[in-house]
Amino acid sequence: MSGVIDVSSRHPEKLTFLQRLYVPEILRGMGVTFRHLVRNLTNYRGLPTIQYPEQKRNYSGRFRGKHILKTRQDGSLKCVACYMCQQACPAECITIVAGEHPKIAYEKYPVVFDIDMMRCVFCGFCVDACPKDAIWMTRNYEMAFFTREDAVYSIDRLRETPEEIQTHGYGYRPYYPGDGTTPPADASRLPVLPGGGERDRLRRESVPLVERDRGPGPLNAPSQAERSAPGPSF
Ligand code: SF4
Ligand code: SF4
Repeated sequence: MSGVIDVSSRHPEKLTFLQRLYVPEILRGMGVTFRHLVRNLTNYRGLPTIQYPEQKRNYSGRFRGKHILKTRQDGSLKCVACYMCQQACPAECITIVAGEHPKIAYEKYPVVFDIDMMRCVFCGFCVDACPKDAIWMTRNYEMAFFTREDAVYSIDRLRETPEEIQTHGYGYRPYYPGDGTTPPADASRLPVLPGGGERDRLRRESVPLVERDRGPGPLNAPSQAERSAPGPSF
């Protein structure tokens, strides 16, 4: 019959008498272990393993490790809380809550920006999706937690610090100009524009909304609240 594999004709290899005793095979396995033990003890420097954490491997500049949130020259986060990274994240481990930025140069900023490192698969999609070059990855892979709460990194642990970069170095990021070590310059690195009260001024001076006729049809009929509200009668 097609699609069905007949396994009835397959027989396991017959064990020899010595193999069925088991003890000789156990002794043979222990002999292999002992041979490796002696070889490694006499050739300690030639071991293929490294003595972590005293020794660490030097990973590639494209290593996808812990994320960092990049900052502008004034120290504020470059992130404009556009949610692009959250949308792109296949593990759904980014949580952003947007707030209104006090300076008109930036519409929004992240009041909350959390990454659940236990769910993160370190794919780098968030870095690729960011239009503001605001999230990079580092070569920091030393993330150990005792609780689930510990694994949720908020802004204070994601904000870029010189110490972290000095210790671990940059990892995966969108641009690698020059020798790959110089951070890229873009518009969002320009100085922050003075914005005290500008948002309010723009709102005051904004073009008023055009009054439009609702048009006919049952869906355009005024609601009960609109009918009972004081003002022009419908
Ligand atoms: S690296 Fe991938 S899984 Fe991790 S936060 Fe970014 S998009 Fe999500
Ligand atoms: S995509 Fe970039 S700018 Fe947008 S919310 Fe994510 S980190 Fe912020």
